[in-house]
Amino acid sequence: MIKIHVLRVGSTQVDEALPFSNKSKNKLAFTGIFRGKKHQINVPVTSYLIEHPKGLILIDTGWDTEIRTHPLKYEGIANYFASPGKLPANEAVSEQLEKLGYQSSDIDYVILTHMDIDHVGGIRLVKDAKHILASQKELQAASKLNPRYLRRLYKNIKIETFPNTEYDLFDDVSVILLPLPGHSEGMTGIKITGDWNKFVVIAGDCGYGRDSYEKLILPGITWNKKAELASLKKLQNLALDKNCQYVYLTHDEEQYQHKEVIL
Ligand SMILES: [Zn+2]
Repeated sequence: MIKIHVLRVGSTQVDEALPFSNKSKNKLAFTGIFRGKKHQINVPVTSYLIEHPKGLILIDTGWDTEIRTHPLKYEGIANYFASPGKLPANEAVSEQLEKLGYQSSDIDYVILTHMDIDHVGGIRLVKDAKHILASQKELQAASKLNPRYLRRLYKNIKIETFPNTEYDLFDDVSVILLPLPGHSEGMTGIKITGDWNKFVVIAGDCGYGRDSYEKLILPGITWNKKAELASLKKLQNLALDKNCQYVYLTHDEEQYQHKEVIL
């Protein structure tokens, strides 16, 4: 039996045009520049804990508790003004794990869907996990100078890599790491399959909600639009499979209606 817990690890503020870019006529709207506060929306940031018979897996880490006291220093000026994060009491990934009776050293694998700040920002809080993994391509991209990646957050933490092809974590098809490039170069989704072939997909920032993959709406920020469209089509096909129970996306509020799933 596999059990998945959906954990709210704070929120982030973005321009309303960012999630579904094709809906906005203003091409630069997603950046939030000159748009004012009334266009800002708050979206959740999410981690997922998977209790699997072969190991405990955490997907993504949300924010560090430092954001509560020194937000500007922690996020850096560009991130702080573009999409400031919030981390209410008891929502840090370590606090959420504790509520479920775990500490970070219990985790066998932390899997990072990609290296954006709202996904790796809490990595320090789970640095005692046995393995921390990201895709080869994503880690390579994140090691170059690029304002979207804050290397200081993970510079002293050992991150192992997996190849950029479909990767079977336990060699039994129950946890497959799926390349979903587009939002970022090495974006990875996780397909988790239980008994009777029922599965869910955790797709990070490949989309922002059901409309992303059902209507193929690109988000405002993409590393590569063509790759992103292909990844959304892949997600669309997975969602149409009769065995697919749900597609989880980091910033989608709807997923909290499916907070605990048993496969
Ligand atoms: Zn994100």
